[in-house]
Order: sequence, then structure tokens, then C-alpha cells
Amino acid sequence: MSARVLVVDDIEANVKLLQARLEAEYFEVITASNGADALQICKDGLCDIVLLDVMMPGMDGYEVCRRLKSDSRTMQLPIVMVTALDQPSDRLTGLEAGADDFLTKPAGDLALLTRVKSLARMKMVTDELQLRITSGRQLGLDQVSERDFAAINGLHGQIIIINDLTSENQRLMKHLGREHTVELAPDPQEALYRCADNNFDLAIISLSMRSYDGLRLCSQLRSVERTRMLPILLLAGQGDEQKLVRGIDLGVNDYINTPIDTAELKARVKTQVKRKRLNDKLRESVHNAMEAAVRDPLTGLNNRRYFDRHVSNLFDQAMVDSKPLSLIALDIDHFKAVNDSHGHQAGDEVLKCFADRISRNVRGKDLAYRFGGEEFVVVMPSTDKELAYVVADRMRQDVGATPITTKDGAEISITVSAGIASIEGRFDTLSSMLKRADEALYNAKRNGRNKVVSEAA
Ligand code: GH3
Ligand code: MG
Ligand code: MG
Repeated sequence: MSARVLVVDDIEANVKLLQARLEAEYFEVITASNGADALQICKDGLCDIVLLDVMMPGMDGYEVCRRLKSDSRTMQLPIVMVTALDQPSDRLTGLEAGADDFLTKPAGDLALLTRVKSLARMKMVTDELQLRITSGRQLGLDQVSERDFAAINGLHGQIIIINDLTSENQRLMKHLGREHTVELAPDPQEALYRCADNNFDLAIISLSMRSYDGLRLCSQLRSVERTRMLPILLLAGQGDEQKLVRGIDLGVNDYINTPIDTAELKARVKTQVKRKRLNDKLRESVHNAMEAAVRDPLTGLNNRRYFDRHVSNLFDQAMVDSKPLSLIALDIDHFKAVNDSHGHQAGDEVLKCFADRISRNVRGKDLAYRFGGEEFVVVMPSTDKELAYVVADRMRQDVGATPITTKDGAEISITVSAGIASIEGRFDTLSSMLKRADEALYNAKRNGRNKVVSEAA
């Protein structure tokens, strides 16, 4: 993965050092030696992550951070404060300014790259969400709302701490318990089940457990579908560097060294929780987009595109299993007249109500599709022609039994005609079946409408 990293420091040597190490990992590096230049580069959208020095003449790093986080154009930009001073109060100030993470100078390679990579991934997700908001707006779709997106933060997370060291757990609880909902899991094996059953935002796992190998737990969490996306933060003690490298390889998202710096812990937890929620939002948006592509917005039924995919699979399966499968083609009678006398709007309401009446007459396994206009198709797996006829006639009676009342109070009576076809022999095809159902429907129309006709034997 690559990303554009902005390195901001007033000391040339510091810039050069970070630049060289990031470029060695194929990150693209942009540099600035003061706050004002940094702000401009960020506003111009030229970078994905900012590594920000604290002590700079003029505007200091905190101020730059505050300004970036309060501007809607740059608030999603991840910021790492690079602190030389080993004083916890500096980091608290950074945390309050909205920093996403901290690095202490001189930063080791593992620390530097872990943070930059983790934040680069987060930036990719925010960029994608932003793009979906923009293109959704252009297409008149509301797949992700700007407001939902802006409201995503890393506060009030659901966190599980997996660690058999009681004293350490108490400390973590003290630091995180006020801002998040924290569960302790002293038994790592049991924790695996808990992680699969709950939708945690973050698992904090100790590498120093006496009863279990923390890395094994990470690998187990990554190999199970339900927990594959659960962010993991490792607690690492002195001398755990090798294990950390393995952990990162296994897909661990971040780590923190003990003894724990409170501000760093809070920042990292907040960042991981936020990242989890951004990922969830993106997945939801992809899901919604897929849904929208296969669904008719007026009736909520699946559309022709979905029929082509899904029903050819059902058809193939029915052939393999030598099971029956039937299609009902439905078309509202004289629907044009509904539009002509009540208007298009009322016509739409009638279509929607018609779709509901069809849907309530099919079993869970059967699927109703809107093919377009006032043409619908119902697919009935494991159903022979005789049973399909009974179902279709029930639909026909239901549709004709009571008039549809529109919002304007008009009472509109409609009837429907239907044609039925079922799989015939080993060489039948879905398109041939559809054609036969259409022919049967045509016969129903020709013989007076408000009728169900099965294909000719
Ligand atoms: P028949 O009994 O022979 O099926 O007559 P019909 O009038 O139902 O059939 P025809 O195909 O002549 O007309 C279908 C009408 O459906 C024409 C079109 O304006 C209307 N229609 C198609 N899609 C929509 C829609 O989404 N909303 C509304 N309100 N009307 C639609
Ligand atoms: Mg400085
Ligand atoms: Mg019609």
C-alpha cells in the first residue's frame, strides 16, 4: 500500500530522516518546514497522512492540528504528532487537539511504519466514502449520507480486553472505562467465542499472557469469518519486537508498549474504533449499492437484472435435482387506462399495491420480480404446473377482489392476467420457459383478460 505522507518539521535533518525511511517503504513524501505551508498543502488535498512536529516557531504543531481538525475539508486527514519531549502532558495536549496518533522521536521503524500504514488504510476508507457521497449525490442516490459520515467517531466503543494479568487489566479499565464500554476477558479461549458472538469495535490483546500465546489468538481471530475484521491492538512488553513483527504480518492493526502512556492508549483506541466504524459504513454502502442495482425502487421487488442471474441458478439447480420449477408471468389489464383517467402518480400507487398483493400470496421461497412497466414474474421452485395455477388464481382473485385506494382517495379496481409455464424435460431452458409463460399470458389476454392460462400441453 502506498500513500502520500506530509512530513512537517522546522529542522531540516528531522525531515530528511523521516523522508528517507518512508521513501524506502515506497511512500510518497511531501515536506513542509512550518505550520502555514502545512495547512495549505492539506487544504489543497495533496496528502493522505500528516506527521506533525510539535515544537515549531510561529504556529506550533498543536495549533496546526486543531485547525486541520476543525476544517471540514481536512478533518478526515489522519494526524500523527511527532513528539521529542517525553512528557505525558504534551501528548494530552495533542490528544485534545484531535491528533490520531503519536510517535516519539527518534521513532523506530516498526513504530513509524505501523502507524503510517494503519492510518493510510483508514484514509483510503474515508476517501472511498467521500467519493460515494459525491457520486451518490450526482446520481440522486443516498447511499451514504454526509451527516452519517461526519458523525462517525471513535468514542463510546465496545472494547474487549483479553489478558490474564489482573493488575494490568485494572489499569486499562481505569484509562478506558470512562470513555468506552470495556469487557475483561481473562480466559483467552472463551474470549474467542465472545468475539465471534459480539460486535466489538476493538480487541486489546496482551502478548505477555501466562496461559496463552497472544499471537495464536490473533491468528485464530483472523481466520474466522465473524472476527476477521475486528481491529486488534496488541499490548507489548520489553523485548516483544519480534512478536510484534509477526503480529503485524498476521494482520494486527496496531500495538502499544508497556508501561502504557495514557494519551497514546486513548488515541490509538479511538483511532481503531473509528476505523472499524468507517469500515462498517463502507461495507454497508457497498451492500446498499448492490441492493439498489438489483431492486426496483417503486415496488421494492427485485428487477430483471437480478432475475437473469438468480433464476438461472435456480433453474440449473432444479435441472440437476430433477425437481419441478414454475413461472407465472403477470400483466395488469388495461393499465394504460388507469394512468389515463387517474394520472401517472396514482398509477404508481396501484403498481406498488399490486406488488404487495402478489408478494403476500407467495411462500418465502418464491420470488416476485418486476420486469418493467406493469409486467411481473413470480418464480416458484419445487412447484409443478397444477400448484402454480392454484397460486396464480389466488393472486388473480386477490388483486380483483378489492379496489385500491390512492392517497387522493380514488378507488381504483384492477384485474390481472397470468400465464404459467413449468420445466418440460431435460432440454428445457429458462428463456424458452419465459417465452411459453408469455404466450400463455397472451392467450389469457386474448380470451377476455382477468384469467390464468397454463402453457399449452
Ligand atoms: P393490457 O391489458 O393489454 O395489458 O393493456 P395495458 O394498458 O395494461 O397495456 P399496455 O402495454 O398498452 O400499457 C401499459 C401501460 O403501463 C403504459 C405505461 O404508460 C404504463 N406504465 C409502465 N410503467 C409504468 C410505471 O412505472 N408507472 C406508471 N404509472 N405507469 C407505467
Ligand atoms: Mg521542531
Ligand atoms: Mg397490461
